[in-house]
Amino acid sequence: MTNLREYESKALDSKLRVGVIGGGQLARMMTIPAINLGLTIKVLSETHGSSASAATTMVGDYTNIEVVREFAKTVDLITFDHEHVPLAVLQALEAEGVSVQPPSKALAFAQNKLDMRARLSELGLPMPDWAEVSRTSELDAFIEAHGGVAILKTPIGGYDGKGVRVVRSSADALDWLADFTPLLVEEKVSFVRELAQLSARRPNGDFLAWPLVQTVQKDGVCAEVLAPAPGASSETLATAAQIAKSVAAGLEVTGVLAVEMFETADGRLLINELAMRPHNSGHFSIEGSVTSQFEQHLRAALDLPLGDTSLVSEHAVMINLLGVDDDNDFLPHYVNALAEHPAAKIHTYGKAARAGRKMGHITVVSDDANWALAEARGAAEILLNRQ
Ligand code: ADP
Repeated sequence: MTNLREYESKALDSKLRVGVIGGGQLARMMTIPAINLGLTIKVLSETHGSSASAATTMVGDYTNIEVVREFAKTVDLITFDHEHVPLAVLQALEAEGVSVQPPSKALAFAQNKLDMRARLSELGLPMPDWAEVSRTSELDAFIEAHGGVAILKTPIGGYDGKGVRVVRSSADALDWLADFTPLLVEEKVSFVRELAQLSARRPNGDFLAWPLVQTVQKDGVCAEVLAPAPGASSETLATAAQIAKSVAAGLEVTGVLAVEMFETADGRLLINELAMRPHNSGHFSIEGSVTSQFEQHLRAALDLPLGDTSLVSEHAVMINLLGVDDDNDFLPHYVNALAEHPAAKIHTYGKAARAGRKMGHITVVSDDANWALAEARGAAEILLNRQ
């Protein structure tokens, strides 16, 4: 034990500067635990005035190897706010000895949904039926074999439901078949709800999961998160954590991993999506858990001992503040929201208003789930001026 601790102390000594690629809200929320842990956090942002501007030390194009290499020289470790840095850029850094967490070999599976499905199939993990399709005949055959309807996905670059389409015939997807081949087609799961299992894994293999949560989507975007997932049996909780552990180990993920899942009427859990970074389904953990996903991501990336993932209260509810329209500004309603909902923890991301954009979130922690939900919704309605 002593030797391990000495090793970890040395590792920490030489890795105090964390570099985050991407200046979004995830980088912004990593900044605070980085400061608390005594780390130096530096962010490579795409634009000036990004959500993570307080920690931005460079503005540049993350697809340009020269830019990323220059940034990497100023830090001891690279991690991410998003999954879009080209693998070739990351592989070049790794070849030059830069510590990239999660490594490119893991991120490859988060960047390409077809590769992810293929790897999870090899690992024997539960998923919707799926296939790779390039031709109308292949797509039509899959649709016919799955009750006349399927979900078609572009393998690369989708987010918040963009790049996901319900199809009843290949005629619904001629544009995609022409533009992107191959495509991922999946059976349309008639799920009873969507769940997310948040976890973290260190390079040394240590793994810890948070309690399973329920995510509620509106128009393909996460709207609310309930922690823990209401009414989940101990068997479901254990199965979800085991699935995340198998994914994390099987794909050699380091840092935070979110596994989005469908729960079916007969209680099965099917993996939908993976994210290898802090995730919207884990924002509740800032106030709701002993260790937040942002702190844990840093600890895991640095190969340091992981923090306790227990809830500090019986329940936590997180609500996303999604922009209502382009003029929507929280500021005029801020004082009211603070005054009327003192238990609501309000997070803003410093973004210009735009309809549907994730502008911030609210978390309420309580032993009473219904009260927490009502408080969070009440504060959101005031801030978004919808009450
Ligand atoms: P994104 O990467 O854009 O978030 P997802 O793959 O998570 O895309 O899909 C977005 C949403 O579409 C999911 O949250 C779910 O509601 C729905 N969806 C995706 N795949 C399926 C499926 N196989 N069956 C039923 N619904 C699905």
